Amino acid sequence: MSQLTDEALEKYREAGKITASVMRKAKKLVSKGRKLITICDSLEKEIRNAGAQPAFPVNVSVNQIAAHYTSPFGDDLKIPERAIVKIDLGAHVDGYISDQAKTFLVGGTKKYQLLRQTSELALENAISFIKPGIRPGDIGEVIEKTIRKEGLVPITDLTGHVIDRWKLHTGTSIPNYKPKFNFLEPKLKVGQVLAVEPFVTTEDGSEKIYDESYSFIFSQIGDKAKSADSKILLNEIKKYYRLPFAIRWLEESLPETKLYEALKELISFKTINRYPMLVSKSQTPIAQSEHTVIITEHGCEVITRI
Ligand code: MN
Ligand code: MN
Repeated sequence: MSQLTDEALEKYREAGKITASVMRKAKKLVSKGRKLITICDSLEKEIRNAGAQPAFPVNVSVNQIAAHYTSPFGDDLKIPERAIVKIDLGAHVDGYISDQAKTFLVGGTKKYQLLRQTSELALENAISFIKPGIRPGDIGEVIEKTIRKEGLVPITDLTGHVIDRWKLHTGTSIPNYKPKFNFLEPKLKVGQVLAVEPFVTTEDGSEKIYDESYSFIFSQIGDKAKSADSKILLNEIKKYYRLPFAIRWLEESLPETKLYEALKELISFKTINRYPMLVSKSQTPIAQSEHTVIITEHGCEVITRI
């Protein structure tokens, strides 16, 4: 692995192992009537207890919600009777990030089962295909073919991503289809770390995603703060969160109303960036599967599998 030091490799593997072991605990937690906030809090606690930190807030995205739902504080939402639930979680050790997602069914129908199986199969086919010298869109082609073969549709607005230390997304995307200008993209190299994450839904025309106005996940991108409360909040964020964080994690920094006011100010100054909740355009159910892999001489190593 030319581009990674032994230390980096070891820390990626450690982060991956922790992510995978925490994901195993998710299965029991995802059940009818369970509060989403309980799932988020418990899994984040597991990551911390294992000696890592969450690389981003635990996402619990139900049914037509594709991604970026994490509980705000005091969240009363529960897992409904029939649900297709995406748990997306990540751990980092010293900035070395792993990212994994799995779909769980509650009172699942045949359609939900097919969605889940297909996202898993698309991910496995992509993993068997990954090696140095291919382009991101070549992976997308494998994913799209696998999904179309089952009569289902890949979500084209959502992609995997190349990971670097302290960077969840370097700017290089791993698409879930073959883009027209794939040949312009640089080839992938040994030592690169990729998160591959097919999202699958049921109908053509629903491959698009829209932004909900709600955001519960944020990251710091600037340094400007004016009011005293915003300064307190920004200091807290800078002290603890170099990677995306949840509003829920800032509960103790300020009283709730002041916290939301300060947050609004920091958003308006572009000091913090928001990650809005993402929803399927036609409200169709969505499945997602994700692993983090490191490209090796002849293939890739999946770090989020134990
Ligand atoms: Mn993820
Ligand atoms: Mn990801």
